Amino acid sequence: MKPHQIQAFAVQDQPHAPTFAKSRVCLMGDAAHAGRSIARTSHVPISSNNNNNPTATPWLGAGAGQALEDALMLTTVLGETSTPHDITTAFRTFDSSRRPRTQKLVDLSRETGETFRRADVNGIEELREKLGSRWDQVWLHDVEGDQKKALELMRSMRGGQKGRHSVVVRPHGQGSY
Ligand SMILES: Cc1cc2nc3c(=O)[nH]c(=O)nc-3n(C[C@H](O)[C@H](O)[C@H](O)COP(=O)(O)OP(=O)(O)OC[C@H]3O[C@@H](n4cnc5c(N)ncnc54)[C@H](O)[C@@H]3O)c2cc1C
Repeated sequence: MKPHQIQAFAVQDQPHAPTFAKSRVCLMGDAAHAGRSIARTSHVPISSNNNNNPTATPWLGAGAGQALEDALMLTTVLGETSTPHDITTAFRTFDSSRRPRTQKLVDLSRETGETFRRADVNGIEELREKLGSRWDQVWLHDVEGDQKKALELMRSMRGGQKGRHSVVVRPHGQGSY
């Protein structure tokens, strides 16, 4: 198909995932943000999507950046692990830290698309006013602050677990878990 032959494309939307992490499985990027994930959910009736590709609306142009923020956060929390049990804690911390932000941006993207196609917006100036400074939430976010908070959360979770999960890690792969 040539570009000039494309007459329509589908914008798909799905409900938020209730979690990005379960035990030692963790989703990031589009697979996490776009809704249908570890806990499979039904469709939002905004459009039909009969395949299994995760999707969210494209109106903020922020998906790749969010995937990169996810990667940064995952390296941050996984860098704090020293036992297999820590991996579960790291993934739970990742979920607590990243899910609210990414799902808020998915909502903001949907709302941006709705603003774009609203019939009651008269002219570019009014559209600009209605869109406001929403992209500040994407671009000016304090990612380093999130990293610091996530590390604090992870350390407090690990502190609370001390004694409940005694793990002996021995050198040369002879640890018992
Ligand atoms: C037309 C378009 C324009 C966009 N513009 C922007 C933009 O301007 N700014 C922005 O920030 N974002 C933009 N995005 C969104 C951005 O591309 C995505 O959010 C981003 O690519 C998500 O990265 P990801 O690594 O999570 O997933 P992907 O980039 O989709 O990577 C997933 C990879 O997994 C592979 N894969 C799938 N299944 C399997 C399997 N079973 N085994 C092995 N590999 C597998 C796929 O082939 C793919 O390479 C745009 C998207 C589209 C479609």
